[in-house]
Amino acid sequence: MKGSLLFHQALQDCFSVLDSPVWMDSSTTAECRSLEAAVGGAQKMASLTGSRAYERVSLISSFAASLFLGDYAEIDFSDGSGMNLLDINIREWVPTCLDACAPGLAKKLGNPVPSHTILGNISPYLVERYGFSPNCHVIAFTGDNPASLAGMRLEEGDITVSLGTSDTVFLWLKKPQPALEGHVFIHPMSWQAYMGLICSKNGSLARERVCADCADGSWEQFSKSLKETVPGNKGNIGFYYFSVEITPPAIGIHRFNAQDEKVSEFSSNVEIRSLIEGQFLSKRIHAEKLGYCLMPQSRILATGGASCNADILQVLADVFEVPVYTLETTNSACLGAAYQAKFGLLFAEGMSFPDVVSTAAPHKLSARPNPAAVQLVHLLFLGSWTGMESVAKVRRPCQVY
Ligand code: ADP
Repeated sequence: MKGSLLFHQALQDCFSVLDSPVWMDSSTTAECRSLEAAVGGAQKMASLTGSRAYERVSLISSFAASLFLGDYAEIDFSDGSGMNLLDINIREWVPTCLDACAPGLAKKLGNPVPSHTILGNISPYLVERYGFSPNCHVIAFTGDNPASLAGMRLEEGDITVSLGTSDTVFLWLKKPQPALEGHVFIHPMSWQAYMGLICSKNGSLARERVCADCADGSWEQFSKSLKETVPGNKGNIGFYYFSVEITPPAIGIHRFNAQDEKVSEFSSNVEIRSLIEGQFLSKRIHAEKLGYCLMPQSRILATGGASCNADILQVLADVFEVPVYTLETTNSACLGAAYQAKFGLLFAEGMSFPDVVSTAAPHKLSARPNPAAVQLVHLLFLGSWTGMESVAKVRRPCQVY
């Protein structure tokens, strides 16, 4: 690259596509279905690569590493797990998937590498033009989701629940069970382990809607309703998918009373608890479907806008039966990328990831599971409930308490 030009000027004629698609693009859906067909179907694809086929090949995260390196960067295991090309069990590209995409792809992609790998030194252009030290190493880049997991310092058995506009659940998995819903990635900090990811579109948007309808738009009033109702909601439960949900793929508002009958409305207080319990039960059930197992030391690390609401966090602790901690970190993906870079540099000296983050501020305990409450929630819903569609048929008879 010419040393006098700015970075974007030096790169402007390099690309065959000017407007690169982002993750919301679905123009390659037909190719996804043919990729699944090539390996024997959607579930086979999920078992091999961690998820059914989604519309993406090379991800922006590993591409950005190439810019710093001035060469094609090797792709880290976690980012590679988002491509539907990597066998997450043996951490190698799947020849059938590569061949189904394009000839000669293996050569272009290079070998997938652990996330702490030093890829090389920064490009001479960046040294010359922007004054980087020529000794600056480029560590493998990873995606925003694996980086968030690192930024939140998840430990074995932990879950992160991000209660933002949409809700996201990150899981530390030892033995994943990739399913048609959710995603499994190779863990960014511990490549023998896995991380699970579940996204729900009807997160804060659904909570806001019910808050507007049942609590005059006041979170204080919303919290008061949670305090005035009991865990298990006397057998009432609801699922509120105002727009088509990702996990599970469902739409509509579905309310069931204590007799498992579908009903068209609840009182405001019951509606509010039913929304929050339904959201968290769904997260727990889908987490378990991906292979998540509660461990004695398990914690939930809560983040995102609604994590400031102590009453919502109490329901979260009760439904998952684990203590909930909150994080001060607002931009966990950036922080995680910085931790990852530090880990990459110190790995060679024998440092572990926990050593690298040992000086970070501790997480704050925000809710402890109430043993009486979790037992009731458990009796009512877990174990037998397998999905929104079947809730009315398979839920155990309501316990009166
Ligand atoms: P984003 O995912 O867009 O970054 P945030 O993580 O900032 O969003 O979360 C914003 C959401 O937090 C808002 O949509 C709002 O509904 C929710 N929120 C803010 N305060 C509260 C509260 N006290 N109780 C419940 N939800 C809240």
